[in-house]
Amino acid sequence: MALPVAARSARLLRDPALRPRLLAARCQVLPVTCRRWLNLQEYQSKKLMSDNGVRVQRFFVANTAREALEAAKRLNAKEIVLKAQILAGGRGKGVFNSGLKGGVHLTKDPKVVEQLAKQMIGYNLATKQTSKEGVKVNKVMVAEALDISRETYLAILMDRSCNGPVLVGSPQGGVDIEEVAASNPELIFKEQIDIFEGIKDSQAQRMAENLGFVGPLRNQAAEQIRKLYNLFLKIDATQVEVNPFGETPEGQVVCFDAKINFDDNAEFRQKDIFAMDDKSENEPIENEAARYDLKYIGLDGNIACFVNGAGLAMATCDIIFLNGGRPANFLDLGGGVKETQVYQAFKLLTSDPKVEAILVNIFGGIVNCAIIANGITKACRELGLKVPLVVRLEGTNVQEAQNILRNSGLPITAAADLEDAAKKAVASVAKK
Ligand code: GDP
Ligand code: MN
Repeated sequence: MALPVAARSARLLRDPALRPRLLAARCQVLPVTCRRWLNLQEYQSKKLMSDNGVRVQRFFVANTAREALEAAKRLNAKEIVLKAQILAGGRGKGVFNSGLKGGVHLTKDPKVVEQLAKQMIGYNLATKQTSKEGVKVNKVMVAEALDISRETYLAILMDRSCNGPVLVGSPQGGVDIEEVAASNPELIFKEQIDIFEGIKDSQAQRMAENLGFVGPLRNQAAEQIRKLYNLFLKIDATQVEVNPFGETPEGQVVCFDAKINFDDNAEFRQKDIFAMDDKSENEPIENEAARYDLKYIGLDGNIACFVNGAGLAMATCDIIFLNGGRPANFLDLGGGVKETQVYQAFKLLTSDPKVEAILVNIFGGIVNCAIIANGITKACRELGLKVPLVVRLEGTNVQEAQNILRNSGLPITAAADLEDAAKKAVASVAKK
C-alpha cells in the first residue's frame, strides 16, 4: 500500500535531492491552484497609473461604437488610437472574428473610430495569447495617439528566484519580450530591489540608461520607473508590465500599454482594486467546465490530469514533473460526481490539442469509483479515445470500478498507485 499522498509529498519535500525539483514543480502549479491572480484591463491599469503620477495618454472607455465616436470627438486629438480591451496581450497583431485585423488601430478620423469599434465590440479577438476562438471584446479604449520614436520594455515582477521585486527591462520593446530573451539575452537587463530599502535612484537611473534613454529623457524615464515601482508596492501587484515603455519625438516618456497582476492574498486591503474584477473574461474552457461544476486549469505540458480535489491535483502535477513529464491541464471533479460530469470532463480534456495522454487519478472518498469508471468508458466509446489513458482509482467501490474498466475492452492502462500512474503516463507520451 502506498503512503497517502500528503505524507509522500512531505517525504519528498524533506529529501534534499528532490526538494528543489519538487519546489520548482510546485511554483509552476501553485499560482493556478491557489486562485488566479487578479488581472485588470488596460484601461483600469492605466487609471491606477495616472492616479499615481505615471504618464499615460488621455483616454476614454467605450461600450458601444456610438460611445467610441463620442469619445473620439471629445478627445479632440490630432490622432486617435483605438484599442480592444481584453486581458491577453498581442492585440496589435490579433484578428477579430468580424474579419477585422488588429486589435489596435490608429486613425485621425472619429468616423473611422466608430467604424472600427463596430467591428470590435461584440466580436472575439484572437491573439497569440488567447485560444483559437479568442476572447469577446466588450469595451474599447479610445486614446489620444502619440508619435513613438522608440519602444522599450519595462516590467516589475515579484520574482521567486530573487526573493523579492525585480525590474526587468530591454531597449528592444514593443515586440514579444520572450523572443528578445531567446535571441538577444544580452539585451535583457535586471535590477533586483531590496523590498525594505525600496528602489534606489541609482537603480532607476541605470535601468533608464540600459533602456537607451539619453539626456533629459534619462531622468524622466528614471522618474517614471520610480513611480511605477512605488505603485507596484502600494497596490500589492505581482507584476506591472509596460510594453511599449516608449518615447515621443517631443521628448516625453510614456507608458503606451499596461498589464498589472495582483496578489490575491492582498484582497483584504485592496478592496477597491478587487472590486474592479469583471469575471466575464475567464477562458471559455473554464466557463464551460464551470457549467458542469468542474474546475479546469490550463497548463502548458501534454498530459491531461483528471482528478478530484485540489490537493490531489497538486500532488498529481508534482509527481508528473518528478517523473520528467509536464501536465497539460487539470480538471478537478470535486465530490458528488455524476456520470454526465465525467463525460463532459473527458470531452473538455480531449478537446485540447496539446493533450497527448490522459492520467485519471481519483481517490474515491465521497466519490464512487464505479460512477467514474462508467463515465470514462462511456466517454471513451462515444468520443473515440485517441490518446493513451492511464487510470488510477482508489477508495469506494474500487473493485467494481476496476471490473468495469477491465471488461470494457478499451485500451485503458491500469495503474497501481500514483507513482505508477505518473510513470506510465510519462512513458506513453515519451514513446511518441
Ligand atoms: P498589444 O499588442 O496588446 O501589446 O497592444 P499595445 O498597446 O502594446 O499596442 C500594440 C502596438 O501599437 C504598440 O507596440 C505600438 O507600436 C502601437 N501603438 C499603441 N499605441 C500607440 C500610439 O499611441 N501611437 C503609435 N504611434 N503607436 C501606438
Ligand atoms: Mn503591448
